[in-house]
Amino acid sequence: MKKEIKKCVNCKSDFTVEGDDSLFYNRIGVPAPILCPDCRRQRRLAWRNDYNFYNRECELCSRKIISIYSPEKPVPIYCNKCWWGDGWDPKKYGRDYDLSRSFFEQYRELLDIVPALAILNDNNIASVGCEYTNYFALGKNCYLTMNSWKVENCMYCYHMVNAKDMVDVMTVFSNARNIYESIYVGESNSCRFVFNSESLINCAFCYDCRDCSDCFMSIGLRHKKYCVKNQQYTKEEYEKILGEYRIDTWSRSERVKKEFFDFILKFPRRPANFMNCVNCAGNYLVNSKNALNCWNAVRVEDSKFFENGDTIKDSYDCASGGEQELCYEGINPDNSYGTHFTSYCHKDRNVLYSDSCQSSEELFGCVGLKSAQYCILNKQYTKESYEKLKEEIVDGMKKGENGANSSRYRSRPSDTTKHWRKITTL
Ligand SMILES: [Zn+2]
Ligand SMILES: [Zn+2]
Repeated sequence: MKKEIKKCVNCKSDFTVEGDDSLFYNRIGVPAPILCPDCRRQRRLAWRNDYNFYNRECELCSRKIISIYSPEKPVPIYCNKCWWGDGWDPKKYGRDYDLSRSFFEQYRELLDIVPALAILNDNNIASVGCEYTNYFALGKNCYLTMNSWKVENCMYCYHMVNAKDMVDVMTVFSNARNIYESIYVGESNSCRFVFNSESLINCAFCYDCRDCSDCFMSIGLRHKKYCVKNQQYTKEEYEKILGEYRIDTWSRSERVKKEFFDFILKFPRRPANFMNCVNCAGNYLVNSKNALNCWNAVRVEDSKFFENGDTIKDSYDCASGGEQELCYEGINPDNSYGTHFTSYCHKDRNVLYSDSCQSSEELFGCVGLKSAQYCILNKQYTKESYEKLKEEIVDGMKKGENGANSSRYRSRPSDTTKHWRKITTL
């Protein structure tokens, strides 16, 4: 298919819909976007609130809890135990669909009344001691660690996968242990101040180094031991130099930090950080193929406009998540297939325009459902009646009859989304 130049309806800049993009949109049955990639990304990320926590009360068990929803938000908030429990039925909020009204108005009304999960973690369910975490799963004893899973004993960290004993670290893309103040690290142990590096042991102040041990203040090393400022030393010489630097105190570390950043400025750097990638564009990608405009991700294939995740196939416009295929415009569509325009919907198949629906199939405009099928606005239908009504709603949206001038999204957690409420879609 031929590429097409379009004008973004928000920022008015030109953007290109490539032939491959059109094939993807046709394949999943959606029209080409009317916003440019940057505006789409901003709208998508306005759905997230990673770091702002508030004191709230669970409206089912009255327990005092931490929430990502500020107190003035109209939506009722349930603690993790209550939200995941059997003490409430989200289908109770189901209502008839009114074909004469905008879909988005009706969806927003539902979003305002179905109880929301206070904070997006699984503390006291599959995690232990991880109350102050968000976009988080399968952890133990973690504090202020976001967008992470399979982690233990981590503090002040972001985007960690399979990590243990970490403080002040951002992006661990595979097994790492005992790391302090580092960014983009894989398969490493007992390191501090290491950046864009993999397979390091006992290293400090290293940039773009791989398969090294006992190296200090170096850049671009491969398969080295006992190096300082990229110079080779004996074990005894190395230990003597390291002892003189005394990086075990905070003040000396701060001084060394300055010396390190001055030192690495003298060396050329790769234009982007890719490891084992083919035909990729973006930054911080690992083991990926045909991943364009993708950032901070591992095992991405034939996908575009994605950030922060693991194992992504044939998906466009998603932020965070793993094990997803044919997903489009989603926040955290974990373990999902064919979910479009969703937020925090996991283990789903063919779920559209939905929020916080889990282990479900064939939903449209639903909120908070678990193990459900053939529902629209949380109301149960038969397979035949679901498909007929869904088609009528989508036809109306495509013709602009019942939603073209309404906001597609209504962000519950973020306070920054008012601006986006006026953005049109479809
Ligand atoms: Zn734009
Ligand atoms: Zn509760």
